[in-house]
Amino acid sequence: MTYSMSPSVKQRLSQPQRLLIDGHWLLASDGNVSDVYNPSSGEVIASAASATAADTELAVAAARRSFDERTWTGLTPAQRGKILWRIGDLLEQHGDEIAELEMLDAGKAFNGARHGEIPFAADCFRYYAGWCTKIEGSTKDLSTVPNQDFHIYTRREPIGVAALIVPWNGPLVQAAWKIAPALAAGCSCVVKPATQTPLSAVRLGELMIEAGVPAGVINILLGRGSSIGQLLAEHSKVDKVSFTGSTEVGKRIIDAAKGNLKKVSLELGGKSPVIIFEDANLKEAIAGAAQAIFSHAGQVCVAGSRLYVHENVYEQVVQGIADLAKNMTVGPATESGFDMGPLISKGHLNGVFQMVKAGQEEGARVAAGGRMIEGQGGYFMEPTVLADTNHAMSVVNEEIFGPVLVAMRFNDIEEVIAMANDSQYGLAASIWTQDISKAHKTAAAIKAGILWINCHAVPDMAVPFGGYKQSGWGRENGYEALLQYTELKSVIVKL
Ligand code: NAP
Ligand code: MG
Repeated sequence: MTYSMSPSVKQRLSQPQRLLIDGHWLLASDGNVSDVYNPSSGEVIASAASATAADTELAVAAARRSFDERTWTGLTPAQRGKILWRIGDLLEQHGDEIAELEMLDAGKAFNGARHGEIPFAADCFRYYAGWCTKIEGSTKDLSTVPNQDFHIYTRREPIGVAALIVPWNGPLVQAAWKIAPALAAGCSCVVKPATQTPLSAVRLGELMIEAGVPAGVINILLGRGSSIGQLLAEHSKVDKVSFTGSTEVGKRIIDAAKGNLKKVSLELGGKSPVIIFEDANLKEAIAGAAQAIFSHAGQVCVAGSRLYVHENVYEQVVQGIADLAKNMTVGPATESGFDMGPLISKGHLNGVFQMVKAGQEEGARVAAGGRMIEGQGGYFMEPTVLADTNHAMSVVNEEIFGPVLVAMRFNDIEEVIAMANDSQYGLAASIWTQDISKAHKTAAAIKAGILWINCHAVPDMAVPFGGYKQSGWGRENGYEALLQYTELKSVIVKL
């Protein structure tokens, strides 16, 4: 069925997307805009204000003022919790429209967005709504001074102004993962979505204001990471930066944050191993491994992009995944029925294709895919399986962030653990086996922030998520993420 834009989205996209600063929706102070593309068609679908340094100053000042004047923390925790809960409700109420925006902007299939991202983002706000009333300190007994009365307690306080920098691969959910815990902790926020995908963040901003988040507490800056993102990371009035994106930019954020030693959390790249033992349920493992790499065309930070299969079942598993890949249909996210959608941009598609070519030149065997799909306007890549790869190859060591799986064989558990850990990254992994001892021993030995056994990429708001090694600092989701938007204060009282 050919897609036709809903009237509300058409109306919304007929105007430039605006910045939210101190409760006002503004164009950039110099009037600059950038184009927003639909990756399924390559067409420009909207324009977005491109914030200047002066706009960034205004947004930071608004956040600073609202925090220092206790605009948000002056509400009771229960009042803040109700507002967060309402954001979740509004997201679901407007789910069709936001899923359409996410489909147009980020190339997500409508049904996937409507029944995946929307409820997941809504649940994120509800999950942290519950935490607002449960942020607690503790009491301690003094153990060093005898025969004296002391009262000692700790307080969890909001860290202050939080800059939240979001990537394009999960524009709505990644924004929610940062905004919800930051607001629950009591922070004031400046959100910077990726230039490529501003649409759902703007709609979320409107809903947050409608839900009752006060002016200044939530600000949204659209525009280039290298200019305004960098400014936010450097800014002396920003207390915390939470960044999701590439490891390369993550390192730049650390440098930028040095000036005022603002707290930094980073969710960076990955090259996550999928380990299939001989005794696994191979039918499930083959389907699971294909899903782990081809879901959202591999543009997922926890994509299972390195496959290790026991040598006795290697040929069977690689052939099984290759057969699934060859049978997958690839096409516009705006039409239903395709198994896989586009990559985010022409530049990214070219980058992914060049990586595959380099892999072939280094000796990898193409078991499926390997080519770009041209002639549709959008940015499509075949689901690709590169077999017989090894750790000397760039395709094995570097994150590709596309639908490209590299497959290797192993002989025993020690060997596969060493191979899985031979990576600069340590974000995620999955282990496929029926043997519970083997499963847990391998899980304990893999250096990664999140492990799945007999499944991959199952998310949950309560489960901390983040990386070892160069996959990042800190955790998102769960109570742990909330803590990263707080400072801990200890108070020692002599009675
Ligand atoms: P990116 O270039 O690092 O961009 C991410 C965000 O940072 C965008 O909003 C970007 O703005 C902004 N940015 C760029 N340069 C900046 C700077 N100097 N200072 C401050 N902000 C800056 O990443 P990407 O290439 O768009 O996204 C893909 C990467 O993100 C992959 O490596 C992937 O693994 C990683 N990722 C990780 C996770 C995770 O949870 N660990 C999740 C998703 C993605 P512009 O859009 O304007 O450039
Ligand atoms: Mg980028």
